[in-house]
Amino acid sequence: MQSSEFSGFYKLPIGKRVAEVREFAGLSDEEAKALSAFSSLDQPTADRMIENVVGTMPLPLGIAVNFRINGIDRLVPMAIEEPSVVAAASNAAKVARIKGGFTAKAGEPVMIGQMQVLGLADAEGAAKKVLAAKARLLEIANACDPVLVKFGGGARDVEARVIATAKGKMLIIHLLVDVRDAMGANAVNTMCEALARPVEEISGGRVLLRIISNLADRRLAKASAVFAKEAIGGEEAVDAIVAAYEFAANDPYRAATHNKGVMNGIDAAAIAAGNDWRALEAGAHAYAARSGRYTSLTTYRKNSDGDLEGEIELPMAVGLVGGATKTHPAAKVCVKILGVKTAGELGEILASVGLAQNFAALRALATEGIQRGHMSLHARNIAVMAGASGELIDRVAARMVEEKKVRVDRAKEILDELRKK
Ligand code: NAD
Repeated sequence: MQSSEFSGFYKLPIGKRVAEVREFAGLSDEEAKALSAFSSLDQPTADRMIENVVGTMPLPLGIAVNFRINGIDRLVPMAIEEPSVVAAASNAAKVARIKGGFTAKAGEPVMIGQMQVLGLADAEGAAKKVLAAKARLLEIANACDPVLVKFGGGARDVEARVIATAKGKMLIIHLLVDVRDAMGANAVNTMCEALARPVEEISGGRVLLRIISNLADRRLAKASAVFAKEAIGGEEAVDAIVAAYEFAANDPYRAATHNKGVMNGIDAAAIAAGNDWRALEAGAHAYAARSGRYTSLTTYRKNSDGDLEGEIELPMAVGLVGGATKTHPAAKVCVKILGVKTAGELGEILASVGLAQNFAALRALATEGIQRGHMSLHARNIAVMAGASGELIDRVAARMVEEKKVRVDRAKEILDELRKK
């Protein structure tokens, strides 16, 4: 097995980084080119993907190194505009490696399709009738997608419940569909569309909405890791991280930012793999509020050895077929680099990346404060904005960080000073 552990990956020139990834993932010439072309999404492909195309919007694509998940080394491509995220994920993965890396598990890939039934005199009675016709409804749903059924997926169950609204009682029907390696939205929506007429006949009501739910709480992924105390600054740092976690667990203002950190990693890896990150975002935040109070997606505790144990659990509606995964040339290469064969494996990696990202942020916040690491990268961007180039970028950035004045006006002054010298 190739190792994902690299020290000083960031110091290599881009060409050498690409060569390392190429070697790791066994990429062909063409694949390496698609990965490193700074605009690998060609015009005809982009024009087919969405409407009114005028161009592409490139994001930096970085590689998070050091990940070991369920005993397998992985390189994780991440597409993101925010500095520090890739470095933080790589650092966290390095710490997790000491105790064996991440353990992750994706559950069955079951998505929920919803149908909203209106105009019922007896909504509870209609619910019973729909449930009694379950076998017929499942048969109709499965007839929509013989390919999914062939791959071992398909509609599995029907559930019904009545909700009270300002417009009266409504019957809400859930169709549970095993979508295998798809994200599943198109597959589930098509089934719900096909069930509208039969549900109307059975219930005597009128079906209004029929659409997938992004609260994919039947399709959860979990990941956990032990972060060795020696690698994070001793038991004091472990205690500080646990205290920082408790803040998020008990305060929604903090939890929102805490979970934003989780999604920094998950979104970036999902975008690189051509997945629908809005669906992941919606699912994650809705799941974080499932108790009625918005809380942390991760949990932390100090174990009996004094090390830090972290865990994450969240909905994971990701796919390897459909969407952009099979059309975007760079996404296809990223999936190859990840080395995943099933959507479940992709979900396990994303959950691990989310935990890694969250751990890195908590550690920085609870120990040195987030700005130090963040600021040095940010300062380089500010230096470029002020007109610095070449080696002047680092010199201007270093001065601003030292002075704790990371601003364009100050960058210009330092730049003038250095140029005069
Ligand atoms: P899709 O319909 O393109 O592909 C899924 C289909 O591929 C299945 O229905 C099946 O017929 C076939 N297939 C072949 N091999 C398979 C395998 N091994 N496992 C499972 N299916 C296999 O894609 P999708 O995943 O149904 O839909 C995803 C897209 O829907 C995303 O691009 C998403 O952005 C979009 N979308 C999302 C929402 C939402 O999240 N609310 C709503 C509408 C659309």
